[in-house]
Amino acid sequence: MTGKVYLVGAGPGDPELLTLKAARILADADVVLYDALVSKEVLALVSRDAQLIDVGKRAGKKLLTQEEINSLLVNYAAKDRIVVRLKGGDPLLFGRAGEEIEVLRAAGVEFEIIPGITAAIGAAAGAKISLTDRRVASQVLFTTFSRGEQGNWLNWAAVTAETTIAIYMPGTHYGEVAERLIENGLSPETPCVVVSQATRAEQQVRWTSIAALGSEAQLPAPSILLVGRVASQSVAEWDARINSEFLKSAEANEVGLNARKKN
Ligand code: SAH
Repeated sequence: MTGKVYLVGAGPGDPELLTLKAARILADADVVLYDALVSKEVLALVSRDAQLIDVGKRAGKKLLTQEEINSLLVNYAAKDRIVVRLKGGDPLLFGRAGEEIEVLRAAGVEFEIIPGITAAIGAAAGAKISLTDRRVASQVLFTTFSRGEQGNWLNWAAVTAETTIAIYMPGTHYGEVAERLIENGLSPETPCVVVSQATRAEQQVRWTSIAALGSEAQLPAPSILLVGRVASQSVAEWDARINSEFLKSAEANEVGLNARKKN
């Protein structure tokens, strides 16, 4: 094997969010296999001499199967020096990198992974919210609504009222997402924010709640849903409300206790 394969994260769109390393490798590349989600501004940073191969999806139809992409990576590494597999966001989240890594390892191809900013992080920055917040959120879950190929949707045991949930590939099923969240114990009042085309010039941010999500108009793809107490423009208000509800239920318990004592 003469070449090396780089699995590179292209980030959510804004080319300035690319790592310096990614920019250097793109400028040096001999061949770049890229996904549909990679922005044209990032593609503009690829060496003019490089061969650019679109391996993405168009309107849900794959241009190349995953198996074909895997063999292309191995074949190009046999003749080219720098082979780049360029993916939207970070390559290690919902990017099928696991399969590519195993194929490269099995074929004895040298490879390296260059992280990128994942959509959830780009969207949080775009909406200007913190994904964790010591007042209301202690953990973040990166998950997807898409089923089948990607496996089961969500491990509900991990979801608490203090969880921020980033839902990738929400598709056109906002209403279904909302139903599932409610079914599994989240309050319908839980704030959520839809961020479409995060970090791009066309970015749109829609503030809503789980209850209202189903009636929201579809925003242009790609879009991501951030759900949880942090997904609001006033976390302080939420914090105050949760505290007062907690006090109320504590008082109610006390009333109950006193009533029981009397009996
Ligand atoms: N590896 C990518 C995710 C690929 S799955 C990453 O780390 O971001 C594709 C999904 O990512 C899209 O359906 C959408 O939910 C989300 N996504 C990617 N880019 C986005 C962007 N600029 N704005 C909003 N969502 C985005």
